[in-house]
Amino acid sequence: MITASGEPSADPLGPLIDGWGRRIDRLRLSLTDRCNLACRYCAAAGAGSPCHIDEAFAVAVVRWLSGRHGVRHVRLTGGEPLLHPQLLHMVSSMARLCSLNEITLTTNGQALAVSAERLRRAGLTRVNVSLDTLHPRRFARLTRGGDLARTVRGIEAAIAAGLRPVRLNVVVQRGINDDELCELCEWGLSRGCTVRFLEMMPVGPEATVCRERLVPAAEILDRLSRRFTLEPIASPVEQAATDYAAASVVGGGPAGIVGVIASMTRPFCTSCRRLRVTSRGEILSCLFDAGGWSLAAAWNGGRLDEEAADRILQAAVMAKPRFGRRTQRRRMISIGG
Ligand code: SAM
Repeated sequence: MITASGEPSADPLGPLIDGWGRRIDRLRLSLTDRCNLACRYCAAAGAGSPCHIDEAFAVAVVRWLSGRHGVRHVRLTGGEPLLHPQLLHMVSSMARLCSLNEITLTTNGQALAVSAERLRRAGLTRVNVSLDTLHPRRFARLTRGGDLARTVRGIEAAIAAGLRPVRLNVVVQRGINDDELCELCEWGLSRGCTVRFLEMMPVGPEATVCRERLVPAAEILDRLSRRFTLEPIASPVEQAATDYAAASVVGGGPAGIVGVIASMTRPFCTSCRRLRVTSRGEILSCLFDAGGWSLAAAWNGGRLDEEAADRILQAAVMAKPRFGRRTQRRRMISIGG
């Protein structure tokens, strides 16, 4: 265990508390840094060689963090996690670990239609699907070749499979998709989805453009309030999003939950409970970490040496900054967004 004072406890089993007293119980596990789309703000040109995480390593890491350190929520991400050839098998192995409360996945939805039902049966709890626009040509341009209809079929399949509530992630970009926030909201709510609007973060080679395109949460809410009444919902402190009960101003319109993730204008660092592991086996204590802590030295002959891994984890967790620097040279696709 790592204690709030920063002193390692003699007992290796126990919750993970960082140097600022934050309990770390959420893991973002990047399964691959490959993607079948290349969204302009996420996967700028010039990608290095792609990498899928080793299946046995991924399951061992989740078993270690959940069994020994109290991690309860795992979000599978990437890159595009649906491209990992052993995804289903990995999910069912993780779902058998009784120490986990939730296994969720973030996807662009392009390959979700064929796998949603199988993923739910394997033990996946929920999905977040990225959807920045409802215009097919805009979608293709933003994602460099994506097919909007395929993502829509993926969302419908996830709803039908019971991976509910399906959350739609909309990265709001000035001059790109900020004219369709109400349409995206109506579209999602009318299908029973939660719709989450994300402030754009300055990550990777496109950081300057991301900064210029930032639409602050206050402005997002202002735009939405032209068509929806928004009542704040009390949410758990560790939740990154601020959620609202949304109802159409005009009678008969859709209602549901809308959220805003104000990473830039209202950072939630003080309540951050996340740890990341990349597809290259590095621990990142913060999205904005410049370097990572490699678990390679603890992975011997297909087995995780949990004591060696604890020492690496301790260094990573104690380095978790109180506030992220809001600047990151690495591309989001290789961090695992
Ligand atoms: N391929 C999957 C997808 O498209 O959802 C998972 C990986 S993607 C990196 C995870 C999430 O990060 C997506 O919702 C994406 O929109 C978001 N994202 C990527 N770059 C971002 C940025 N610069 N600012 C805010 N969100 C970003």
